[in-house]
Amino acid sequence: MRIAIVGGGVAGLAAAYELEQARRKGVDADYELFESGARFGGVISSRVDGGTVIEHGPDSFLTEKPAAIALCHELGLTDSLIGSDDSQRKTFILVRNRLVALPDGLMFLVPTRLTPTLLTPLFDPFTKLRMGLEWFRRARPVQQDESVASLVRRHYGQVVVDRLADPLLSGIFGGDAEHLSAQSVLPAMVRLESEYGSLTRGMLAVRKKQRAQARTADASRKQRTIFTTLRGGLQQLIEALVAQIDPVRLHADTAVTSIALDAGGWHLRFTAGATERFDAVILATPAWVAAQLLHDVHGPLSQELASIHYSSSITVNLIYDESAIPALPPGFGFLVPAVERRAMLACTFVHRKFPGRTAPGKVILRCFAGGARGEHMLALGDETIAGLLREELRQILGIASEPLLAEVRRWPRSMAQYSVGHAERISRIRCHVDSLPNLHLAGNAYDGIGISDCIRLGLEAARALAQSETVRGNN
Ligand SMILES: Cc1cc2nc3c(=O)[nH]c(=O)nc-3n(C[C@H](O)[C@H](O)[C@H](O)COP(=O)(O)OP(=O)(O)OC[C@H]3O[C@@H](n4cnc5c(N)ncnc54)[C@H](O)[C@@H]3O)c2cc1C
Repeated sequence: MRIAIVGGGVAGLAAAYELEQARRKGVDADYELFESGARFGGVISSRVDGGTVIEHGPDSFLTEKPAAIALCHELGLTDSLIGSDDSQRKTFILVRNRLVALPDGLMFLVPTRLTPTLLTPLFDPFTKLRMGLEWFRRARPVQQDESVASLVRRHYGQVVVDRLADPLLSGIFGGDAEHLSAQSVLPAMVRLESEYGSLTRGMLAVRKKQRAQARTADASRKQRTIFTTLRGGLQQLIEALVAQIDPVRLHADTAVTSIALDAGGWHLRFTAGATERFDAVILATPAWVAAQLLHDVHGPLSQELASIHYSSSITVNLIYDESAIPALPPGFGFLVPAVERRAMLACTFVHRKFPGRTAPGKVILRCFAGGARGEHMLALGDETIAGLLREELRQILGIASEPLLAEVRRWPRSMAQYSVGHAERISRIRCHVDSLPNLHLAGNAYDGIGISDCIRLGLEAARALAQSETVRGNN
């Protein structure tokens, strides 16, 4: 079976890796991967500068999502896996140019401890009263999808939307809490509401169950950290994947410009005008690219894909001599709510989050900009962007000195936005895809935005094709 993989980000590479494994086991999986850019890895890109790892895109994966770590083990990267230093895991929120620590006991957006919630300067007394009264809400059956902001507002009020939901979601999704879907982004909370009514009561019940389970689990099991990364940067994962894939099957600088389908199979057209025929296609591009490519194949599918919005992201890595800057607050970094009206969305103190990846005596700050509210910043020059963020760091952290290094990266239309109605849209997309022969979609637009989810979808697409080929071969 001839299989085309379009897109050489982590989803496409995971698919190619899996097909390579199948091929080595004798499955007729004759795959080719086409990547429009000069390099593989998509938004994953890192380099090491004088002993300091600089992550231009993502910096880690969530430990609780297993696909990325399992793949790293398979690729022989076990010794390079390191966890975040969770003893330093405090996050601050910028409130009128002051950094306020998130209160202890906050489980994502839900307060579960009374005293820290009462004492925090993050919320006003009326909001705190409202948060307390939330305890008495009655359960209600799952309703139509709504925005995260709407769900949080109903339970805790607008201040919690502005100071918590908005900055946390713009940190993870580069998105806007008023548009993101509660069902897709916070499914656990939608379930808690339908079961308990009160999110706080529900979360406490869940925590009690988790603690009981942890007590009965193997006590010697190592405590897992929240985030996991690779000692030499996430580029290590990309290099390890590429090393396992037959190089003649990897084509960089090769954009697919259109796709046609007829009784003879899938016909891919490339920038240079050439076409090639395949029996199957894995589209591992952003959904908006998949929409363009499938335009002439299936109009309704193309329209659904085009309706998945994307936000853009900008990262700015700044390296300083530790002795040249004031002491940083004790934590992983801070988030900036939209109501603060700043260019910066968030800042991570990278040397604290993953110690051991920064040269001694150096500090590395990773600032984020762009997102749903800062799309215009993409058009600015590197120096202007770095200058804007450095001025904000001066105001917020008192850092006036020149960085030793400043690196700006733009990731246009890279983060899929799971807007209200996302789950229904995805089931319609699945129906359309199933109506076409041997077509698979992988990437961050469908079933999880993180690296692990993208890997999982890439592997699943490859496995489905390898399996169908094995069945066909046996018949
Ligand atoms: C700044 C940033 C920080 C992030 N932080 C984290 C994090 O810390 N942890 C985490 O888990 N996730 C994080 N994410 C999300 C995660 O990194 C991405 O969702 C994931 O890496 C996407 O992988 P992908 O393969 O689906 O897409 P991409 O990486 O976007 O790859 C798609 C590829 O398709 C190629 N392509 C496009 N059009 C064509 C065409 N016509 N022909 C051929 N090729 C084409 C592109 O060039 C690209 O290489 C972050 C994302 C960004 C942008």
